[in-house]
Amino acid sequence: MIDLLNLTKKELRDLIESWGEPAYRAAQIDRWVYRELVTDFDAMTDLPRDLRARLNELARISAPHTIAETASADGLTRKALLQLGDGQTIETVLMLYPDAPGSPQLEEPRTMKRRTVCVSTQVGCPMGCPFCATGQAGYIRNLTPGEIVAQVLHFARELSPAPLTNIVIMGMGEPFMKFDVTWQAIASLTDPARFGMGARRITVSTAGEIPGIERLARKKSQINLAVSLHAPDDALRDVLVPLNRKYPLRDLMRAARAYAEQTRRRVTFEYALMDGVNDKPEQARALAQMLRGLLCHVNLIPLNPTAVSPYKRSPYERVKQFERILLDANIPTTVRVEKGIEIAAGCGQLRQAASSKPQTTGKEEK
Ligand code: SAH
Ligand code: SF4
Repeated sequence: MIDLLNLTKKELRDLIESWGEPAYRAAQIDRWVYRELVTDFDAMTDLPRDLRARLNELARISAPHTIAETASADGLTRKALLQLGDGQTIETVLMLYPDAPGSPQLEEPRTMKRRTVCVSTQVGCPMGCPFCATGQAGYIRNLTPGEIVAQVLHFARELSPAPLTNIVIMGMGEPFMKFDVTWQAIASLTDPARFGMGARRITVSTAGEIPGIERLARKKSQINLAVSLHAPDDALRDVLVPLNRKYPLRDLMRAARAYAEQTRRRVTFEYALMDGVNDKPEQARALAQMLRGLLCHVNLIPLNPTAVSPYKRSPYERVKQFERILLDANIPTTVRVEKGIEIAAGCGQLRQAASSKPQTTGKEEK
C-alpha cells in the first residue's frame, strides 16, 4: 500500500503517469488530499471511476486515529495522542490564541487569531535531554514525511473550515536527525499546490544539530529556526542537552550566526528556566554576552516539570529577573507563561501518562 502523503509531488505525478493517466490527475488528487482534506478516494468526484478503483486498491491516505486527548482548563490547548499504522503513538498539539484576552469569542475556536499545530518528527527521541519527557522515554523510530504531514492534516480537518495559521515542528523528536524527511514534509506543507502554508508561518526547533542548521540555511527558505539552548556554558549544556558534547556551544553559535547572516532571519533561542540550575543572574549575563550582535530572539520558558525528572520550574521573580538582564543587554526576549512553546514542550508527557494508565482522558494537570 502506498501512503500518498509519503510521495513528493513529482513522485505522485510519476505514479499516476505510470498508470497511463494524464499528469493533471496528480494535481487533482493533491487538491483533494491537501485542500479538501479527504481520506477517501471515492470522495474525489472529478476522478474517473477506474482511477478511483485503482487508488482504492493500491494506495491510501493515512490518518492516524486519536487514542487520547487532553485539553487545558481554558480549552485553548489540545494535545492528541495519535496512533500510527504500526501501533506506535505520538503527540500532536493544537494551540489557539484568542484575538484578545477575555474575548467573548473564547468558546469558538474558529474566531481565534492564531491556530498553531505542533508536530512530532520521531517516536520518542534519542537525544536524552534529562528535563524532557520525550527524552526520558527513549527512542523508537523516525517518522516518515507522511506521518509528519498527517498530524497537520489531522487538526486542519478538525478546525475546518477555519484554516491553521502556523505550524511548529517542536513536538517529540529531533527534526534534524533526518533532515531529508523533515524537509520533504515541509515541502508538502508549503507547496501552494498542496497544503500551501507560508514558510514564514513554520518554525522548526533543533537541539543543536549543526549539519541540519547549515542545510536549512542553504535552502534559502523563509522557515523560522529555533535552537534549544537552555545553558550558557558547555559544562551545564553537556548535561541538559547531551547533543552539546557533539556540537559544543562555540560551534553552535557560529552556525547560528551564519544562519542569521545567510538568511537574514532572526534565530529564536529557547531557554527553559530550571530552578537553581540555569536561572542565575550571572548565567543571564553570560547568555547575553554569547548572543551579542546576533539577529535573534530569546524565548524564556518556565520549565514544565515532568514526572520523573528532578528539575523544577524557576519561580516567577527569577524568570522576570533573567528577562530583565537580557532586555537590559538589548537582547529581544519574551517569557511564555502557560501558553505556546512550553505547552508544546510538554510533548511526551501525555504519552508518558498514557503508557502508565491507558485510559487517559479529561483535563491536563497543569
Ligand atoms: N528536539 C527539538 C524539538 C522538540 S522539543 C528540540 O529539542 O529543540 C521542543 C522544545 O521544548 C525544546 O526547546 C525543548 O528543549 C523544550 N522542552 C522539552 N521538555 C521541556 C519541558 N519539560 N519544559 C520546557 N521545555 C521543554
Ligand atoms: Fe529530544 Fe528535544 Fe526532548 Fe531533547 S528536548 S530529548 S532533543 S525532544
